[in-house]
Amino acid sequence: MEQRPLWSEAGAAPAEAPTTRGSRAVRTSGVKSRRELSAPVAAATVRAEVSAPVLASIAVGRPVRGEFTYALPEELAGRLEPGQRVLVPFGRGTALGFYLGPASPPPGDKVKLKAVQRVLEDSPSLPRDLIALLRFAAVHYRYPLGEVIRGALPPGLSKAVEEKEAKPDVQHFAVALVNEVPPELSRAPAQSAALAYLLAVGGRAPLEEVAHAIPGARETLKKLATRGFARLEEKTVEASVKEGLIQGRPDHLTPEQDAAGVVLRGALDAATFQPFLLHGVTGSGKTEVYLRAAEHALSLGKGSLILVPEIALTPQLVGRFRSRFGAEVAVLHSALKDRERLFHWQALRRGDVKIAVGVRSAVFAPVDNLGLIVVDEEHDPSFKQEEKLRYQARDLAVVRGKQAGAVVVLGSATPALETLENVKRGRYQLLELKHRVDDRPMPSIELVDLRVERPREGVVTEEAPILSPPLLEAMAETIGRGQQVILFLNRRGHSTVLLCEVCGLSLKCSECDVCLTHHRSQNRVVCHYCGLAMPVPEQCLECTGPMLKLGIGTERVEAEVLERIPTARVARLDRDSASSAERLTELLASFARRELDVLVGTQMVAKGHDFPGVTLVCVVMADTSLSIPDFRAAERTFHLLTQVAGRAGRGKDPGRVLVQTYNPDAEPVRRVLAHDFDGFANQELEWRKALAYPPYSRMAAVRLEGEHPEQTASVARSLGNIVSRHMPPASAGVRMLGPALAPISRIRGKTRWQLLLKGPTHTALAPLLARVEAALADVPSAVKVVIDVDPGAML
Ligand code: ADP
Ligand code: ZN
Repeated sequence: MEQRPLWSEAGAAPAEAPTTRGSRAVRTSGVKSRRELSAPVAAATVRAEVSAPVLASIAVGRPVRGEFTYALPEELAGRLEPGQRVLVPFGRGTALGFYLGPASPPPGDKVKLKAVQRVLEDSPSLPRDLIALLRFAAVHYRYPLGEVIRGALPPGLSKAVEEKEAKPDVQHFAVALVNEVPPELSRAPAQSAALAYLLAVGGRAPLEEVAHAIPGARETLKKLATRGFARLEEKTVEASVKEGLIQGRPDHLTPEQDAAGVVLRGALDAATFQPFLLHGVTGSGKTEVYLRAAEHALSLGKGSLILVPEIALTPQLVGRFRSRFGAEVAVLHSALKDRERLFHWQALRRGDVKIAVGVRSAVFAPVDNLGLIVVDEEHDPSFKQEEKLRYQARDLAVVRGKQAGAVVVLGSATPALETLENVKRGRYQLLELKHRVDDRPMPSIELVDLRVERPREGVVTEEAPILSPPLLEAMAETIGRGQQVILFLNRRGHSTVLLCEVCGLSLKCSECDVCLTHHRSQNRVVCHYCGLAMPVPEQCLECTGPMLKLGIGTERVEAEVLERIPTARVARLDRDSASSAERLTELLASFARRELDVLVGTQMVAKGHDFPGVTLVCVVMADTSLSIPDFRAAERTFHLLTQVAGRAGRGKDPGRVLVQTYNPDAEPVRRVLAHDFDGFANQELEWRKALAYPPYSRMAAVRLEGEHPEQTASVARSLGNIVSRHMPPASAGVRMLGPALAPISRIRGKTRWQLLLKGPTHTALAPLLARVEAALADVPSAVKVVIDVDPGAML
């Protein structure tokens, strides 16, 4: 297997037949060991003893690998379609199963197979083209097929109840109609409490939130509403998105958009698999290209699937699809309630709705007659799922496109090096948008060397300031002109390190191998990995020395802006300030409506936002992500800086970007300053090639997590030994890194180890991973081991 051959494996049966701990799989293909055969066969039912049984391949919804062969009772033969859900005997009980297709008889004589018990539905809930994708995912990411299928179906489907039509995306709000709690409520404590809460949070809040804060508030608020003190309203997410965030359909395309559109229309007409990289600089109008392609697909009667990193962070893109296609769009985000998810799923499955916009899990959305798949911001790390089925949605999108004969467009201003390499090898066709819409200039990017341009000392009490004079000047000037500023820093909280001035000990989480972050607004120190929080210690816990607050977070930047430019209207955008999707949308909408001058935030401000009022972007410290022990650290830094810089100058006024750093010579920083994507990519690719990192190799991580440090270490070493013993000859190019403690060696009290495998192809790694899986049966239950194919983060 070569470069990115995901699709060439599509539909293939597992190369080898590993059994998970405690499971025995009977496969439809491959030779079975007696051990594997024993369980299902020994308990075979008499019903299966038909003279020439018709055999069915079934994925069982249990944590077991592979597909199972069952007999089909006569009355079912010929009645089943792939994807249909059935009940099958399994072990001592019954399990949900998915019919995948006919099976050939297992080798060995007179094997009595158990029979399918019951069919659960008249037509398959799982569309046929998805079966192939899920089969691929189960094999590639080494996860039980039945679980993969179950995970891809909406919860609630199995109940098969046609509940009264679910209203998607509706949120209920309570709105206060008075400015203070009226005296006549003095004898209704519940009502005055609810009203007081509402007033305290600004007069309007989601019903859920009030009900959570004040038990019984739902009923209380209804009473307040009948008495005229409050109002209850329903609001769809759609409506809140529309406020201030949506533009109409442009009359003319730019020449580059037009050229890309012509190619994509041709590809859609051809109705075959064609993958594209749409490499367009920030502000070049990529979204319009997606929209036109989806329009064309729709005119051909075909469906489109649009994957985005995070719905809440991209309300504009969702809004544009909604305003262009109206009810033809299903929006699939992670905050959907089960009923809403089911509603959208069924609408797509029936073909009533032809366009799905969604986050990574939407790669499994049952879009009917799929013609187009778009992956926007395809470089974004959030396309990788970090639990259970550890899939890369961008990679699966390409596999799905191949299987469905669809056009795939991967779009980004900063394509992943993996994608770029696929272009270089001629696998993907390149479409470029090198200019911004209306030929607006790219922003000028200037360096602020923090070693020279010292932020003025002693401004903010206790702490050293971080905003340098040039930064403050530029901000004041921009705000003075009525334009907007984005300040980016990839650390939330106030101070990220608390260190004893006397003994030098830093305050760490008791459960994790990380420093606690001081959140001044909560007056606590918090662990960003396990959530542990405690009061801010007055002094060092070891030696009672005074504590220094080092390491700067967004909260502190916000405070400093407020102190230095008191007239500025400042808000913060990070996981703390935007704790719900609704809050986030409102913050973004309010910035779009220009009710704010400055937005301080983490990478959340670097996403694809389109705020024409922003003419200044400041990177508070470019160095934060440079030293992360991950082979993608430089790439990630380059992406983040380029993306956040791209928020500047998208309207008619030109943009300016200031990058503060202590490392002006760092490669990603220099290249961003020069707008030199190609230079960066080529240099980085050379480095990756020299060290055989992806895209010049395939990787898999074996991750261990254990309660006891010694035991975990010993399991890690023994798995390492197993891999070493079965290592192919050096010429095969397979290498093992570790086993070693993970860079973050403890999270939630569990010791973490990892073992990395690198090889020229996935096929080269598979036998070793199978050996690891086979060894898992002997691993003590206090140690959890998972295999992560094509790992994302290395921490
Ligand atoms: P990108 O995703 O490439 O950064 P967007 O798709 O957000 O860029 O487009 C940038 C801005 O240009 C948006 O405000 C969009 O509405 C506008 N735009 C896109 N295409 C055109 C066009 N052909 N004519 C005028 N405005 C356009
Ligand atoms: Zn912790």
